[in-house]
Amino acid sequence: MKKPTKILMPSYVEGFKCIGGECEDSCCIGWDIDIDKRTFRKYSRTKDSMMKQKLTKHISKSSECYNDDVDYGRIAINDSRWCPFLEEDKLCEIQRNMGEEYLSNVCYSFPRIYNVLNGSYEYSLSMACPEAVRKLLSNEDPISFREEDMVEIKHIVHSTLDTNHKFWRKSPVKNLPELRSLSIEAIQDRSCSINRRILNLAAMLEKKSQRETNRHEPINGPDKYTFRLEFFSYVIETLGVIDDIDSPAFAGFTSVLMSEFELIKDNPHKSAASLYKDAVETVVSPFIEERPYIFEHFLVNSIYQDNFPFSESQEIFDGFVILVVRYAFVQFYLAGIASKNKELTMSNIIEIFQVHAKIINHHKTFTANLLQEIKRKEYDNMEFIRLML
Ligand code: SF4
Repeated sequence: MKKPTKILMPSYVEGFKCIGGECEDSCCIGWDIDIDKRTFRKYSRTKDSMMKQKLTKHISKSSECYNDDVDYGRIAINDSRWCPFLEEDKLCEIQRNMGEEYLSNVCYSFPRIYNVLNGSYEYSLSMACPEAVRKLLSNEDPISFREEDMVEIKHIVHSTLDTNHKFWRKSPVKNLPELRSLSIEAIQDRSCSINRRILNLAAMLEKKSQRETNRHEPINGPDKYTFRLEFFSYVIETLGVIDDIDSPAFAGFTSVLMSEFELIKDNPHKSAASLYKDAVETVVSPFIEERPYIFEHFLVNSIYQDNFPFSESQEIFDGFVILVVRYAFVQFYLAGIASKNKELTMSNIIEIFQVHAKIINHHKTFTANLLQEIKRKEYDNMEFIRLML
């Protein structure tokens, strides 16, 4: 493929800057850090004996490298879950002592995401960075997109896709650019509520794909609040939030949910659904209805960044179901906070968006397992979507 010369950017990325030591959840906390091969070799050649000693101690070659430009080597986080090169003031020792050119591709790029679609770069920010979430939500106007000439900078390409390639000739993937742009249009239709826009999006995808997504297959059983409580309790258990996920923030918000809604394994308390319903109806929904741009921007960014609707597979409905489940899952966590504090703030929204992205986007199998489970239960239909909204 020809080297891309153009880059598409959403308006919210303009002026983004890492806030370094001021950051409330540095990207150097909680994750092992990937080191590309070129940087790995630069470290082994450094003349700075003190740094060399420390680099040798903490950096090792990856046993499962999938791309030399990304994860040839690895820095393991220490017992307090910090990168061993992150100093007390939350600044990077490698950058401070050796210079920015010694940062690995991952450290240099994060939270910038670069995809290449049909020969053009597409730039966006990962919501795992709290400053990126603040930028996303800093402007109520609809996100717009503009194209610029690409300037050569150090970066990692997250995905490369050429929908015009003959490989996709018989696949709906060939229609990705059109479907994605119509999806963004549907979500930015400010004449109706966010939930209505999601239903309109489903109708558009159904029409375009000629697949009947709108099957009304009644899911027998409880009302939508009880259904969601049971469904998300199962999701939380599968994710191993409390025991397996290394994020005190996510575990903390999950504990709030569990105690507020009395989520007892296999036996949700009868009053849980009414507590949840009350939190949604008295706090979460009014807060969101007053600020519909919050979830509009959340959905538009996901659609743009994840090659929607083919984020999960070549099936249009797979990407749609996961988009809606993630939208509802974030709101479920907001309901936990709303139930406890009897109010929501923009800081709560920023924190929940960020913590979810940091955990779920970087969990190797969560989304794939979730989709598999949804299909196994035969929930991949519009009745399930309505229960999520
Ligand atoms: S999470 Fe974002 S703001 Fe925080 S240190 Fe990383 S890039 Fe900077």
